[in-house]
Amino acid sequence: MQFENTLAFARQLDASDPLREYRDLFLFPRHEGRPVRYFCGNSLGLQPQSVRPALLAELDQWETHGVEGHFRGDLPWMHYHKFVAEQSARLVGALPLEVVVMNTLTVNLHLMMVSFYRPTRERFKIIMEAGAFPSDQYAVESQVRWHGFSPEEAIVEVAPREGEDCLRTEDILSIIEKEGPSTALVMFGGVNYYTGQFYDLEQITAAGHRAGAFVGFDLAHTAGNLPLRLHDWGPDFAVWCSYKYLNSGPGGPSGAFVHERHANRPELPRFAGWWGHDESVRFQMRKGFKPMPGAAGWQLSNAQILSFAAHKASLDIFDAVGMDALRAKSLLLTAYLEFILDEANRGKNRFRIITPRDPAQRGCQISALTDERGRALFDYLSENGVVADWREPNVIRFAPVPLYNSFEEVWALGQLL
Ligand SMILES: *Cc1c(COP(=O)(O)O)cnc(C)c1O
Repeated sequence: MQFENTLAFARQLDASDPLREYRDLFLFPRHEGRPVRYFCGNSLGLQPQSVRPALLAELDQWETHGVEGHFRGDLPWMHYHKFVAEQSARLVGALPLEVVVMNTLTVNLHLMMVSFYRPTRERFKIIMEAGAFPSDQYAVESQVRWHGFSPEEAIVEVAPREGEDCLRTEDILSIIEKEGPSTALVMFGGVNYYTGQFYDLEQITAAGHRAGAFVGFDLAHTAGNLPLRLHDWGPDFAVWCSYKYLNSGPGGPSGAFVHERHANRPELPRFAGWWGHDESVRFQMRKGFKPMPGAAGWQLSNAQILSFAAHKASLDIFDAVGMDALRAKSLLLTAYLEFILDEANRGKNRFRIITPRDPAQRGCQISALTDERGRALFDYLSENGVVADWREPNVIRFAPVPLYNSFEEVWALGQLL
């Protein structure tokens, strides 16, 4: 499609957008009386209108039933994790048995590494992308030390080539092959939080498994952003959070995926809690942990109902729209943003896009690397009602989210730039 940098053209794209009505399901913060131009759904998604009534319903349930709320009402608390498992499984292309919602992201990353990072003297390395989100770096580093290894020896980072911003798949695969015999775990992000690069998870999984390692992914910036086929691609585990593209509110619960091949392996080492215990005998309160089959067997605690209720309200929207329709709009909207950024930058060179130009290697985030005037540019946008985000040292990230962003907003951003 031949894009145009005009309001009329942007409005025409909005008019023919099959998802345009979903925008009305969300609450926008305001700036000088008008909704902000919100391009920050990669950091904290906007609040769906349906979240408030969902939370009030749980407060009512608590008020009306007290402890009996565990068993009564439309969504008895005792089973709440099951009410979000199927929807979450659809979202990431998994079987319901393979998915559980629990805890928060970094906690789940640790729980998964307890099971899938089992280093030996020969095989003790973790291969990951250089510049991973800091929480992942800390989690990996502390796991390595916990097992008595040094991070310098045990963590292998795949970095971009000199003069490049993103990773080449061929480089990732060749490092996995080279380090394979000493590698215990390949742990990658799905979409890198900084560059917005979407890695080839299927090929990384295959390479990791060929090398005899376990493979896990952190999908914080991927879930709800790109269609996934976790079951078919076959990683051993994956984790994600629900407050970025999944719009479930600050600190919302995390999702975890454990591949079906591990569903019935009670001998797999893990940190256990009562909610992961066989539910048919959970309340006999006896000794001897017997895990539930599948990902549910990694649960520790009963669900945080209020955050789960917000999460469920949001997942209902994803279920209604479907990841394929979202991706279709996302491709167009992100391409339009790329065009508008290039237009704004033409002949000025105020920033450089570091996100891959190839749409297959990105979701809906575009990162612009600025110069020493970048912070002033970012502040100017903020003062004019644009919410984007700033990542040190000098990157501005823009995420046009297909559920609630419009082409007109993207055009307006270009005008300000
Ligand atoms: C957002 C994000 C986190 C945050 O972790 P929490 O435990 O939810 O605070 C961790 N890892 C990645 C890759 C992220 O993008």
